Amino acid sequence: MQQAEHNTFYPLVLLDTIGEAVFVIDTQWRYTYVNKKAEELVGRPCEELLGSTIWELFPETVATIFSAEMHRAVQQNTPTRIETYYPPLQKWFESRIYPSAAGLVVLSQDITGRKQAEEALQRSEKLLRALADTAPSIMWIADPDGTIIFHNKQWIEYTGISPKENANDWPELVLHPDDLDRYMQAWQQALKEGSDYEIEVRYKRHDGVYRWFSTRAKPVRDTSGRITAWFGSTTDIHERMLLEVERGKYAALISSSDDAIVSKTLDGTITGWNHAAERMFGYAAEEAIGQHITLIIPPELHQEEEDIIRKLRQGIRIRHYETVRVRKDGTRVDVSLSISPIKDSAGKIIGAAKIARDITERIELERRKDEFISMASHELKTPITTLKGFTGMLLRKFERQGMQEEVPMLTRMDAQINRLTKLIDELLDVSKVQAGRLDYEEEPVDLAALLQETVEILQPTSPTHTLIVRETTHAMIMGDKDRLGQVLTNLISNAIKYSPQANQVDLSITTSNKTVTLRVRDYGVGIPKAHQKHIFDRFYRGRVSHSKAFPGLGMGLYIAHEIVKRHGGEITVESEEGKGSTFVVSLPLKK
Ligand code: ADP
Repeated sequence: MQQAEHNTFYPLVLLDTIGEAVFVIDTQWRYTYVNKKAEELVGRPCEELLGSTIWELFPETVATIFSAEMHRAVQQNTPTRIETYYPPLQKWFESRIYPSAAGLVVLSQDITGRKQAEEALQRSEKLLRALADTAPSIMWIADPDGTIIFHNKQWIEYTGISPKENANDWPELVLHPDDLDRYMQAWQQALKEGSDYEIEVRYKRHDGVYRWFSTRAKPVRDTSGRITAWFGSTTDIHERMLLEVERGKYAALISSSDDAIVSKTLDGTITGWNHAAERMFGYAAEEAIGQHITLIIPPELHQEEEDIIRKLRQGIRIRHYETVRVRKDGTRVDVSLSISPIKDSAGKIIGAAKIARDITERIELERRKDEFISMASHELKTPITTLKGFTGMLLRKFERQGMQEEVPMLTRMDAQINRLTKLIDELLDVSKVQAGRLDYEEEPVDLAALLQETVEILQPTSPTHTLIVRETTHAMIMGDKDRLGQVLTNLISNAIKYSPQANQVDLSITTSNKTVTLRVRDYGVGIPKAHQKHIFDRFYRGRVSHSKAFPGLGMGLYIAHEIVKRHGGEITVESEEGKGSTFVVSLPLKK
């Protein structure tokens, strides 16, 4: 058949107009027809092609899949379709091969464009997959009916199963039984409504441990608004959930506490205010939060707040600090404060938490107790004074009458009355200190002379110990002679009382530039370190085991401390258990 004839044949002319290349090959693999497009495709005119075999014209295709497919089509007499890359032209072709008795009809078209697009798509899919695998969360894509069609490797790493391979039962395998229904219902609803999806549930890890996750999904829509897929992410929020539970517990504790709990920033702005604070101070949380803490601090105590803040900045806790606060209605409330610094995660102090306990009742009770002590000691004082007077009279009378037997008895009676009087005086002093009513004279006092006097009074009644003034110097101070004498008497009496095995007490007075220092040293039982800071407290008595051996009520040092403090001085102790104690009083010298 001649090409020229054929091409004028009407149907063949038509073949020139189609977009595909058409080759007809006879049983000897010779080209018998090529259309225009085919000429273009191979880049040769039909004269060069017709009559020659495909293998001689394109020897490079002999050993290719294309050639194998052509032969298979002929041998099996079945049409076939093949996509091949043809390197000389750097092009992809899709060829459909139809065998017939006369040979083969091959329709080819250039699909390079499509192939490139496909490859680009594959490349970007690969990139996205790699990206998804580096994400910190589990990521997944579901088709519009909710079946998962993609997931990153984190999913398998965590659960040990692939939702794609367990399309129907992965929720039962992975979700916590208590969360399953909630999860499925919410997911079905989101699928139905096409709405964003978000839920917090527990997922089982490959080792059987459940952890909390937050799962979110969003529908992806095409231009017509139809959902084409769901993009989802599932993030581990276990630590956060635990923290929230913990926080919830603390919040419940704080709100149910009977003590007011108030938090504030370092500049004093109130940030937290529990129910008890509302009850104690009369301000609702909304009124107090955001205000400055001075809202509840009486004006005269504003300095106190500054001291507290300074301590907090240094990270110092404040425990059971007794003070006064003011309520919304202006009345005062006695409180005991415990304040702790609040630190951020880096350990920096950013605020303070304050626990305030209402101690009004306790203070009132103490006041009543003090009042009672004061009244009782006054009541006791009158009969004792009378007793003392008559004892003295009797003693003098019996002495005059030379009643040898009765005189020592009356002398002992007088001594016991003196003890009683001293106790009652101390009780009275304590209640006066408490009420702030201990009165002081203001006169020049020579401490050296006062010490000498005191020693002279005490020595005759202390046969077991020698009171030795080791060093003394003239030292004038301003103050109350009787009260200072009381301090000296107390320290020397204690030194004797607490050193039963010793036989001396050393005393000294020294002066420096502006102060005079008095030392009272004994060689007795000493005071353990742990007790030293308490011995100046009211009613504090040292070791219980001493109580019987050393009678007393724990008032002497409290009063002495108060008197020295009122004179602008200081009283301290240096002591070692079993070796004795030295009480040191320092007072400002008279200018
Ligand atoms: P009292 O002697 O009545 O107990 P004080 O107030 O004088 O009360 O003393 C308080 C406590 O301090 C005593 O109970 C005792 O434990 C301790 N103390 C005081 N002086 C001495 C001392 N010189 N040696 C050892 N302990 C002492």
